[in-house]
Amino acid sequence: MASKPIPKFDVIVVGSGIAGLSTAIACKAKGFNVTVLESSPKFSSIGAGLMISANATRILMGMGLRNRLEACGIDMKRVVFKKFDDGSVLDERTYEGTEENLGAPNWQIHRADLHEALLEKAIESGVVIQMGARVQKYDWDAPSALLEDGSVVRGDVILAADGYRSRSRGELLGQYTEPRFSGNSAYRALIHRSEFENDPELSQIMEISNQTTYVWVGEGCHVLGYPIRQGEYYNLVSTQPAIHTTGPKFVVPVPPSEFHDRFAHWDPLLENILRHLPQENVLEWKLCDLAPMNSWIFPRGKIVLIGDASHAMLPSAAQGAGMGIEDGAAIAEVLARVERKEQIPAALKAFQDLRLPRCTEVVDSGRQNAKKWHQKDAKGGTVSDDMWNYDVQAEARRVPLSI
Ligand SMILES: Cc1cc2nc3c(=O)[nH]c(=O)nc-3n(C[C@H](O)[C@H](O)[C@H](O)COP(=O)(O)OP(=O)(O)OC[C@H]3O[C@@H](n4cnc5c(N)ncnc54)[C@H](O)[C@@H]3O)c2cc1C
Repeated sequence: MASKPIPKFDVIVVGSGIAGLSTAIACKAKGFNVTVLESSPKFSSIGAGLMISANATRILMGMGLRNRLEACGIDMKRVVFKKFDDGSVLDERTYEGTEENLGAPNWQIHRADLHEALLEKAIESGVVIQMGARVQKYDWDAPSALLEDGSVVRGDVILAADGYRSRSRGELLGQYTEPRFSGNSAYRALIHRSEFENDPELSQIMEISNQTTYVWVGEGCHVLGYPIRQGEYYNLVSTQPAIHTTGPKFVVPVPPSEFHDRFAHWDPLLENILRHLPQENVLEWKLCDLAPMNSWIFPRGKIVLIGDASHAMLPSAAQGAGMGIEDGAAIAEVLARVERKEQIPAALKAFQDLRLPRCTEVVDSGRQNAKKWHQKDAKGGTVSDDMWNYDVQAEARRVPLSI
């Protein structure tokens, strides 16, 4: 028997971050017409290292991006938790067999490299991307998006992936409120490999054949380090009580000495790394997440929040981008199961039924990990492999649709 044809819905995606682009690619692959509305006039190379675990890499590989991403990403092989002061090993886990066990690898990759690969894929697949298109508000019934320049973009369904400070979320809730501030911030920096060349200890930590992720844990703070971009850079990110981001600022450049001095009395290996911080681009990021929302769906059932807009989480979950990628794969699967436009609200409801419990659990894991790593006598330890051993596409094909 021939399979049912999928209707050619017009899908509007708001925001072209990792969640928006993943969603656009997944929806295009189902045969929908996809337009992405992005407020920035052009893309910039923002962010630093990300861990993308098997639950998300299986989706990226399904998009045909394996070779492209392996050329710039690194397989996460080993995680070593170290005591903050003397650097003694508290816990050590190997992830060498992840692909054999879970069917997909864990990658460590620069956000800009992942974003560029998704952007290329979206364009190549025929997704239309409108830059400089800032959505001001929605007509919930049409549905359509009113842009700041006064133009209106209409579709059959709108997927709002406009990030953790989402204007769309404010419209759904009736009032914009900032995400929940954790009280902590992250220093983030990338150190070029040339800085480590003449130091045997530091050259060794850049070795990608024997890749090791270090996590130094101490009371109220932790620091994470691993090589990215095939060993071109060392990615260093810390979490500690916020200094410059306690008020309205979310990302603030800081002098490298501030990052160095904060952890100078820690493990001599970390101190040695910190001595090589670059003069520019050491940034303090405010760390926030979102309390679970009751609903991500707008009245009339044609617009839904996805990605950080609906479930921003702390970096200690190492899943924010991963959950955005899962969202995209899930929404494409449920939309592909409906036969008429009138059934779109049921698809969005099924999407939410599947995603809200999963994302709530993952957001909570971010808070729990931070708590675990920041205890006085912390021993380290990561989330279980269960979180990574999840096939969102299979789940989205099974989730009940009440149509
Ligand atoms: C320190 C740190 C470490 C992290 N580590 C990890 C990790 O190891 N693993 C992991 O998976 N995740 C990690 N994350 C989280 C991850 O970076 C985010 O969850 C992810 O990038 C969010 O993607 P997004 O597409 O939902 O949102 P964004 O990247 O914020 O994209 C939103 C897009 O919407 C656009 N936009 C905003 N408003 C409008 C509007 N009105 N109209 C049109 N467009 C609009 C913006 O310009 C932007 O392009 C980390 C985050 C931090 C801060």
